[in-house]
Amino acid sequence: MNQRPSVLIIYTGGTIGMVEDPVRGTLRPFDFDHILKQVPELKAFGYHLETFSFNPIVDSSNMDPKIWIQLAEILKEHYDRFDGFVILHGTDTMAYTASALSFLLENQYKPVILTGSQLPIGKIRTDGKENLITAIEIAAKKQNGMALVPEVCIYFEYRLFRGNRTSKYSAEHFNAFHSPNYPPLAEAGIEIKFNYQSIHYPALIKDLVIHTQLDNRVGILKIFPGMSAEYAQCILHNPDIKALVMETYGAGNASTSPWFLEAIEHAIDQGKIILNVTQCSAGSVQMGRYDTSLKLLDIGVLSGHDITSEAALAKLMFVLGKETERQKQVALLQSNISGEISS
Ligand code: ASP
Repeated sequence: MNQRPSVLIIYTGGTIGMVEDPVRGTLRPFDFDHILKQVPELKAFGYHLETFSFNPIVDSSNMDPKIWIQLAEILKEHYDRFDGFVILHGTDTMAYTASALSFLLENQYKPVILTGSQLPIGKIRTDGKENLITAIEIAAKKQNGMALVPEVCIYFEYRLFRGNRTSKYSAEHFNAFHSPNYPPLAEAGIEIKFNYQSIHYPALIKDLVIHTQLDNRVGILKIFPGMSAEYAQCILHNPDIKALVMETYGAGNASTSPWFLEAIEHAIDQGKIILNVTQCSAGSVQMGRYDTSLKLLDIGVLSGHDITSEAALAKLMFVLGKETERQKQVALLQSNISGEISS
């Protein structure tokens, strides 16, 4: 039996996995089978590292729910053999994947850390090496035999976040992610400082259960001044859409125009679920605080509280995949399944 900490590195794709061909100057995928040779710094940990590479690799713009389920299945298959998992992923949709995995993995008690980079790992100024090295260190960390961070997280540019609280907010800076409504779970400086009060620890260790049903008949309606009735109705009354994230203003406010409220009411009468999420990058929906959100509450729009749009979409897919009865769907949507909302 291997007593060294063991981590499985799953490479899905994204910028981090690219190295520059020194002769041609072109970018080519990094050979993860030889990770210790390519990132020799990792040897100093003395960990047992194994790699699993997607083939073909996926630019994260091409991620979809089938791949999220595939990831959950890979994690389940290897769960007993490793102390932790690092998923290398493109940054563009990393927040969606992290959110989805947080719902698909039930009774999680080992770390699943997603990371990537803004510059390929083979570039001199890459942010990829630090992200990879520290993500692996966090995935392997234990205290009294238990994982230090048994959550789905994103590690990026010295900060560890709860994955379903993040959004990508910079296409340019190394600190590409933020978690506006939940504090970082750890910050890496000379030492890695863990914010223990904010990390979720399971009360009991139970077998990992994975969910494998996601229903993608969901959508987003971002409201804006001047939105036409035709546009709103086309989304709200689309028969193939079962649930919508409605991105509203401020604390969950929207137009009180009768046509708009009627269109929403009609959609809800048709059985659709509408989850109210703020367009602001921080803060929470508080339906009923203003008249402009009280009306939404009255007609049956649900509060998304302080959830991100990424987590809200993943939660809708998960809830529709898990429950068919509306009452159960609503109850699940209003509950905090995996730390994605504060209330
Ligand atoms: N387009 C890339 C991706 O998300 C960008 C990145 O890796 O950061 O896969």
